[in-house]
Amino acid sequence: MSNIEQTLSIIKPDAVERNLDNEIKQIFIRSGFNILKEKKIQIEKSEAEKFYKVHETKPFYNDLCSYLSSGPIVAMILEKKNGVAENRKLMGATNPKDAEDGTIRKKYGISIDKNSVHGSDSIENAKIEIDFFFKD
Ligand code: UDP
Ligand code: MG
Repeated sequence: MSNIEQTLSIIKPDAVERNLDNEIKQIFIRSGFNILKEKKIQIEKSEAEKFYKVHETKPFYNDLCSYLSSGPIVAMILEKKNGVAENRKLMGATNPKDAEDGTIRKKYGISIDKNSVHGSDSIENAKIEIDFFFKD
C-alpha cells in the first residue's frame, strides 16, 4: 500500500522577509517533496487566530498570531511518501537551538518564535490546514 501523504508547509514571515523562500523551496524539492500548490499571501490576525486555535490557551498565542500575520508568507501543499513526518524531520525542532544539523530551522531559524517554517503535525491536521489555505 502506498502512503504518499500531503502536508501543509508555511514559509513564515521571518524567512520570506530575508528572501529565503526560493532557497527553502529548493530544499523541499531536493529532499524529494513535490510542491503541488503554493501561494504567497499575507493573512489577517483573525485568520492566524483561527489557524493556530489549538494554541489559544498558550502564553505565546497572541504574539504568535501577530507574528504570522505581520508579513507575507508562502503556503504550500507538499507531497511525499510519509510526507507529514518527513516534513517535520526536515524542519527540525521547534526551537532552532535544539534543531539538528541539516534541518531548515537549524539553518535559518532565528529564535523559537521566528523559526522560519510551519509544518502540519499529523495527517488529520494536514487535511484541515490544507483546506484552510487552499479550499476555494
Ligand atoms: N512558539 C513560540 N513560543 C513557544 C512555543 C512555540 O513562539 O514557546 C511558536 C513557534 O513559532 C511554533 C508555533 O508557536 O512554531 C507553534 O508551536 P508548536 O508547539 O506547534 O511548534 P511546531 O509544531 O511549529 O514545531
Ligand atoms: Mg505545531
